[in-house]
Amino acid sequence: MTIHKNLIAGEWVGSDGVANINPSNTNDVIGEYARASADDAKTAIAAAKAAFPAWSRSGILERHAILKKTADEIMARKDELGTLLAREEGKTLPEAIGETIRAGQIFEFFAGETLRLAGEVIPSVRPNIGVEITREAVGVVGIITPWNFPIAIPAWKIAPALAYGNTIVFKPAELVPGCAWAIVDILHRAGLPKGVLNLVMGKGSVVGQAMLESPDVAAITFTGSTGTGKRVAAASIEHNRKFQLEMGGKNPFVVLDDADLTVAVEAAANSGFFSTGQRCTASSRLIVTEGIHDKFVAALTEKLKTLVVDDALKAGTHIGPVVDASQLKQDTDYIEIGKGEGARLAFGGDLLTRDNPGFYLQPALFTEATNAMRISREEIFGPVVSVIRVKDYEEALATANDTPFGLSSGIATTSLKHATHFKRNAEAGMVMVNLPTAGVDFHVPFGGRKGSSYGPREQGKYANEFYTTVKTAYTLA
Ligand code: NDP
Repeated sequence: MTIHKNLIAGEWVGSDGVANINPSNTNDVIGEYARASADDAKTAIAAAKAAFPAWSRSGILERHAILKKTADEIMARKDELGTLLAREEGKTLPEAIGETIRAGQIFEFFAGETLRLAGEVIPSVRPNIGVEITREAVGVVGIITPWNFPIAIPAWKIAPALAYGNTIVFKPAELVPGCAWAIVDILHRAGLPKGVLNLVMGKGSVVGQAMLESPDVAAITFTGSTGTGKRVAAASIEHNRKFQLEMGGKNPFVVLDDADLTVAVEAAANSGFFSTGQRCTASSRLIVTEGIHDKFVAALTEKLKTLVVDDALKAGTHIGPVVDASQLKQDTDYIEIGKGEGARLAFGGDLLTRDNPGFYLQPALFTEATNAMRISREEIFGPVVSVIRVKDYEEALATANDTPFGLSSGIATTSLKHATHFKRNAEAGMVMVNLPTAGVDFHVPFGGRKGSSYGPREQGKYANEFYTTVKTAYTLA
């Protein structure tokens, strides 16, 4: 089997490979992917540093052309890349193709942003002096990504980093090297100069750690778990470097007595269980007022019975497998914890057998949960959802906000008063009214508050806050 190599200083390098396994069928080896060492990471950082002066001064048309070409190729190959994504991560084929299209749209958006770079000219408070405010590239950006969005998250970090003139060392999650390799291959062939984008596939504790320890990495953008995020923060403060963290969530979805039951059930099922519950914006706490509680639980349970859990590539599958054995163990451990805490397992939670060996878990719905239980406070990152019964809107809002996290928060209601109040008072970076907590646009800010995020927002034009640094220049006329 050919080894997919790392890209360092414009050359494909590496000899020994690690097998990339399909979670829908563990007999299916998707490919062999090189494993970088700490020294490889250092070489990649040096290459990115050497490439920075020329790339940061490159013409905007050159950057536009490369990003646009990349967008066009991703769109043209959306079915093939979506299939690779579904095979290596386990989300369903329609979800995977949707994520691939989103990656293409992100490259297209940031291709456009290269043509919209602007500054400000402002009069000085002193006579005969002009003031110019401009944005410049930051330097070498380290990009560290998780496994759950193998093409969209790399896209929404790589595209703005390049658009604003930074060079990159990119370390994808070990579980999903396939999409990372494909996107880097496309950008490389689109004409990026040597060293501008370096790919170092390998272990976080080795390659990621080498990036954290390097004084030559000027900024790190990280998406992943809270634990690793804290390491990124500590190491970045040590080096006086810019950093941005997107971490976990325990997103609430409130259902009020006046909700449209169909809208509430569809949004809750989507938020909690689609993409196997493996989305940072997934809702794992359904906070339901008592007047609609029993009707809602009954309707959601009926809905869950119709959802097909099977091979991600099979037509008709609604929920693919869990990503790997260790995540599956985490999910089933939490199901036991929930039972032990006194919540009632109202539906699912069993391991499932399918035609091929894979990590199949029936969606699990707990009722009679409280917000104090571990299953309501800790991120599970699987298809495991709890229903918390509350008296009224005020208690629902207080419960929704009673969490260490603050990424996304949703409400199902037909009341303008409650929708408006919730939008204003939900302690989250993103608020959804009559919509799932997950599923966002690519051209507007993404990010959270409290323990979910740190630093500037990602995506849309707000991305320039992280990928550029501001300069104020004074000139005597
Ligand atoms: P991890 O934190 O384990 O891994 C994220 C990335 O960090 C991986 O590339 C990993 O490499 C790397 N890494 C691990 N250890 C180190 C280290 N010491 N130094 C530098 N890098 C390191 O998260 P997961 O990949 O398991 O992703 C799941 C988590 O991510 C969930 O908690 C989820 O909520 C969160 N997440 C948050 C999102 C958000 O936007 N808020 C979006 C998506 C996920 P390797 O894979 O090789 O270990």
